[in-house]
Amino acid sequence: MPLSPIFAHDALRHRLAGALTRGTMPGSLLLHGRRGTGKQRLALWLGQTLLCSGAPQPCGACQGCRYATELTHPDLYWFFPVPRADISDSSPEEALAFMRGAMRDRALDGGLWGPSSGSEGLFVEMIRALVRAAASSPAMGRRKVMILGDADRMIAQEGSDQAANALLKLLEEPLPDTTLILTTSEPGALLPTIRSRVVAVRVAPLTPDELREWAGSDAVHARLGPVGNALLERASGAPGALLSGTAHESADAHAQLWLKALRGDAADRFIAVLSEKPAGARGGFADALDALEGVLHARLRPSVESGADATALAKAQDAVDAARARTGHNVNPALITAQLLRELRTLGING
Ligand SMILES: [Zn+2]
Repeated sequence: MPLSPIFAHDALRHRLAGALTRGTMPGSLLLHGRRGTGKQRLALWLGQTLLCSGAPQPCGACQGCRYATELTHPDLYWFFPVPRADISDSSPEEALAFMRGAMRDRALDGGLWGPSSGSEGLFVEMIRALVRAAASSPAMGRRKVMILGDADRMIAQEGSDQAANALLKLLEEPLPDTTLILTTSEPGALLPTIRSRVVAVRVAPLTPDELREWAGSDAVHARLGPVGNALLERASGAPGALLSGTAHESADAHAQLWLKALRGDAADRFIAVLSEKPAGARGGFADALDALEGVLHARLRPSVESGADATALAKAQDAVDAARARTGHNVNPALITAQLLRELRTLGING
């Protein structure tokens, strides 16, 4: 089964395809933007475009395109966060075989996937596999494409220094036959040494109309059934939010707790802060921030449309953005929550 068709991001795709035609495509790219906006799907589209032998690229009909969209192309590598136990102590060959299987599973599963859970990561075994694969010759075409999804989830482990250094070297001087595409929703969480070696490209959320059209497309409808307006609003331009299943629900519940604390008194807010996990739960915490932003965003639109002063709501969204940036710097979630709730109260957001 192929990936579900690429959707939206037309202007950006046009820009990337143009760079490819002109021969100005950088060797290392970083696609960044809010969680669930389709950055990894876009990276796979770019991979297909780079591996296509037809015209105009991607033609969608050649062998390269077919294998790429079925996620079986031997020169298309896609590493994304997985549970620790699945990859622990694997050799590079084993880790690569595991990722090939995981890629195929995503294609078989309807070509749609939700966000990684907070407990999944990119472990040193995978980075070693990526570095090893980058050194090999292309199997089918003239080049290889390597995607590192959610690159901020690289886990520092014993022995990871060497792998990280090898990756940095690869990003700095990509082999002429290799394109590296990193994606992240938390660029602040990436090592500055990585950020400085890649060309950053921002991926915008979908417009409300685009999201609605995406949700109504065959592949998505088959997976999710009809999607109501409330859910579409809450996803605020991030298709991935609709695919996140229970992770989405728990992020929502987390955000609702914060809103409840904002409605209550100082003691309620104190309890909300105390109940945050101290550290190491960045994924789940960031999801909750996304959910909170979705709620604020949903309030912002009607108030803008009715001509009301939406300054406070817009500032509240900035405060959530700032909180998200702080998660990237490994600040304790309880401290981030305390500051965020204080700022939102000052802005008059009372739940
Ligand atoms: Zn093609």
